[in-house]
This record gives sequence, C-alpha cells and structure tokens, in this order.
Amino acid sequence: MTTISRTLGKVSFALFLGMICQVSTAAQNATPIAGKQPQQADQQFKLLKSHFLKALWVADPDTAMGAGKFDHAAKLAIPNQQSRDAYYAFLQKWLLAFDRIKEDQLSVNEQTDFALIRNYLRSNQWYLKTFREFEWNPTQYNIGGSFDAILNTDFAPKPQRINIAIARLEGVPAFYAAAKASIRQPTMEHTRLAVQQSAGALAVLDALANAVQEQNISGHERQVFDTRLRLAKAAITDFSAWLGELEKGLTPSTARSFRIGKDLYEAKFAHDIQSSLTAEQAYQRALVAKDDALQNMEKLADQLWPSVMNGVAKPDQPNKKIAMVIEKLSANHVEASQLFNEIRRQLPVLEQWIREHDLLSLDPKKPLVVRETPVYQRGVSVASIEAPGVFRPHDQTYYNVSPLEGLPPERVESTLREYNHWVLQILNIHEAIPGHYAQLQHANQSPSVIKALFGNGAMVEGWAVYSERMMLESGYGNNAPEMWLMYYKWNLRTICNTILDYSVHVLGMSEAEAKDFLVNQAFQTQAEANGKWLRVQYTSVQLTSYFSGYSEILAFREQLKQEQSATFNLKQFHEKFLSYGSAPVGIIKKLMTKS
Ligand code: ZN
Ligand code: ZN
Repeated sequence: MTTISRTLGKVSFALFLGMICQVSTAAQNATPIAGKQPQQADQQFKLLKSHFLKALWVADPDTAMGAGKFDHAAKLAIPNQQSRDAYYAFLQKWLLAFDRIKEDQLSVNEQTDFALIRNYLRSNQWYLKTFREFEWNPTQYNIGGSFDAILNTDFAPKPQRINIAIARLEGVPAFYAAAKASIRQPTMEHTRLAVQQSAGALAVLDALANAVQEQNISGHERQVFDTRLRLAKAAITDFSAWLGELEKGLTPSTARSFRIGKDLYEAKFAHDIQSSLTAEQAYQRALVAKDDALQNMEKLADQLWPSVMNGVAKPDQPNKKIAMVIEKLSANHVEASQLFNEIRRQLPVLEQWIREHDLLSLDPKKPLVVRETPVYQRGVSVASIEAPGVFRPHDQTYYNVSPLEGLPPERVESTLREYNHWVLQILNIHEAIPGHYAQLQHANQSPSVIKALFGNGAMVEGWAVYSERMMLESGYGNNAPEMWLMYYKWNLRTICNTILDYSVHVLGMSEAEAKDFLVNQAFQTQAEANGKWLRVQYTSVQLTSYFSGYSEILAFREQLKQEQSATFNLKQFHEKFLSYGSAPVGIIKKLMTKS
C-alpha cells in the first residue's frame, strides 16, 4: 500500500510521509479459527464486527483504501466540518453498539479484537475533539497518496482504475477549499512541509495525465478529464501559494508551537502506544537503557582500540573514545552506486541464516522486491517497507530505498558512513528479515482483519528492533566486537529517539540541544541528526514506539525463558508471538500466557 494522508481523526503511524519505517497494515483473509465451536458471545460479537467493518469503509475511506478496499475510491472525501461531525457521530454510535457486548464472556482472541476496536473508536474521538490536527497540520491535506494508490494498486483493470481516478478528480477543488477553511493556527514547520509536498501531489497528477494519454481516452471523456485536471492542478497550486503567504505571516509567537506539551503528549502516548507505562515512565526507562548501552560500548571500544586505532593515544573521556572508534570504523562502507546492489545481495543471506539457525519460518513464495522509493514518498527516510493492504494479500511487497544520486557529495558521504558495512546489515535485518517484512508475512496468516487494520505501531517497530538483537545473539556477524559496537550505536538511536521525543515535546529541548544530544551522546552523523530534528518537529510520540515495544518484547521473552527453562524454544516463541498479528504487546502477552 501507498501513503494516504488521513483527513479524519488520527494520522496513523504508518501514513506519515518520509518515515524511515513506513509499514502499512498487513494483508490477510478473515477466517475464523477452525476446530472451536464459537460461543454465543463470540457469535454476537462477530456479527457486530462485520456490520461495523461495512460501515467503516464508508465512514473512513482513507482507512478503507489503506486496507486495499477501493469500493468508494471514486468519491474524494471532503475534509470539512460536516464530514468531521458525521465521523464523530459514527464513532459514538459504534462505541454504544459495542458497549452491549459482554467483554468477559468473549474468547481471548475476540477480546483482543474488542480492545482494538474500542481503542480505534475512542482514540479517533480524541483526535477529533482534543488533538484537532486538522486545524494546525496542513500536511494532512494532500491528495497525492490516494491517487497514486489508485494508479498503482492492481485492484481492478487499469482502464477501470483510471476512470475511478478521473471521477475522484472532480472533488479536488472542494477538497482544498475545505482544507483552507479548516486550517486555523498552523505550525510553521508543518506549513513549510505542506508547501514542499504540494509538488509531490502535482507530480502524481502528471502521472495520471500520462496514464490517460496511454489509454487513448478521447472525445467527451477526454474533455471532462482535461477540465478536471486543470481545475485540480489550479487548486493545489492555489493551496500551496496560500500556505506560502500564511507562512510568511507566522512568527514563533503567532504560530502554534509544534511541541505538543505534556498533557497532549501523555494522552497521545496512551492512545497510540497502548503500553502499560506512562510516557514519563518510558522516558525514565530509556534514560537507564542509555547508560547501559554506553557502558557496553566503552568496553567494546577498549577491546577494539589496539587493532583499529593503530597506536593513536586513547582519550580518557568514554564518549570521546567510543566516538573515535566508530568514526574510524564508519569509513568501511559501500560506494553510493553499490548501495542498491548490496541491499539486494544481503536479503537472501539473511534468509538463509534464519533457516539454518531455526529462528523463524519464512514464506519462500513471497520474495521482497527492492526498488527506488517513489518520488512523492521521498523525504528524510533512507529505506522503508511498503506492504499491501489488508484485502490485497497477493500484491507485491516493496523494499523502498531512496537513491543517493543528486544529493550533495558531503550528504552522500555522511549517509554512507551512517549506513556503513555493519549498520547496513542491521538496517536490512530491521526493515526486512527477520524484521518488518517477516513480521508482516506472519501477520498475514493471523485470523483477524481487525488486528491487521488497527495494528499497533509499538508492536511493529518493537519487533523490528527486537529482531536486530535476536540476530546478533544467534551469532550473526560472528560476534565481532565491531558488529556489536555498531549494534549498540544503532540501538542507542532507538533509546535516544524516546528521550529526544519526550525532551522536545514535553521538556522544551531546543534545536541546538537536540542536535548536540544526538551527535555527542548518540554518535549520530550531522545528516542523521538534521533529519531527526525534522522528524521530531513533524511527528510526536511515534519516535517512542520503537523503544517501548522493544523493551516490552525483550522483557517478556526473558520472563518466559525463566519460567520454561529447559523447554523454552526460541523459534516457537517467535512464531507464536507473531501469530496474533500486529496487536499491542500487552495483549499478545495475555493471549500467549493464557493458552
Ligand atoms: Zn522500523
Ligand atoms: Zn567514505
């Protein structure tokens, strides 16, 4: 699936442009668990669930398209107050409907779906009434993603999809008129980004025009298209210019701050992460993890010093010492022209390792396709996984890699040093195997559309981060101190994401402090720190999902290892854990310890 900006309620973790890990909801079929006679409460719930899903596709077209349901794609939803009110009423109606279900009489699996549905309904109400992003985040208003999805998802023959796109095009002027009427006090940062991303929307319409040309559409139909295209492009250009003017008038004192503050942060953390911790507790936990990582890194730096540093005098300051070894090792990287080929070469190697070490099963019939990131999705990310939606299980999954050509030479070098010989392998583990891609493969077999649809970002990112550690523990990389040092540097990034996000949004950390923190305490390159600063301005809470999910999964595994001692089997643990789909880790824990 492609990136579709949501204009109602919550912008999901997966849908923001330019994320490093764009993982859309997993594809799967809705099949009941075989063998068990469903109880009465389950049956009642399942019936309600199917009615709810049917209503959802109409009420929330962006979620529908994200899931690969294009039945209503011909009509572009207009993001005005009337549609927001209608959506809120829809959420309220279904909250009341699900209130009639006796939760404690449901089977464990259905209880999970119940919890996820309720969280979807409640959190979207919160997003609409309290978070109100539609007033201050103009990047929500971009039609590019949805048109690209219609053009490039194989849900119908191409001529039919083009007709759907042409019909949808009619709504574009009203869409941007509603956007202008909805925006009240935007942040400077989101306003600037929205102007930049308008170019991407225009590029997608150019692609549509090319497709129309190729189909030899003529006569009246062609005239209709030409008119709609002209009006749609004019609306985007006008919106972009309007935002540009708006931005000129904004000052730090008149614009809304991109920092969301403590109250909104805690509430958003509770809705998005669904962790047992508060945001502040997660932040405190990250501070402790940071100290642990740094201690391990110092030991590794000492161990590596004689062989790597060739007689250079060793400084006393631990961070300085670690930084010098990392700096030296980072020179070991591929050429820019080889980045693509190297990623392609590594994937089968990782697959073989997983098989030989009995860590997880993989479906050999679904190879991952490595490709250049589509232009409109390029942002600050280097790599991302793009998976088909919930009803498109047979579509291709892509590993998007942003090309480095055309970037300034120092930016290219900085990026290549960051994704050096060791870190590039960890990136592939994280994004692909056994990280995101393998997790999605397993989620596809999970018997719940709901879990795939309302997947938990902290579980998804937590699994990818957990898989890095698990691979190194299995001996991948020969237990080389270089590999472990780079692993900790990468892991420290996850930890520091949590610290950074909380510090910036709640504690008021400045740009200079943030960059100093990332470069001098997390050993990141300037390019990486600059990108992270952009991301922390555009998003909130999302950056904490990696660490909170990872620390919960690791703690759970260690707990089971202790309890089961000799009978603990790592592969079984992984398969079982992934079999529930992208549910919150807390719910998976409940399911796994019950059965
Ligand atoms: Zn990720
Ligand atoms: Zn170099």
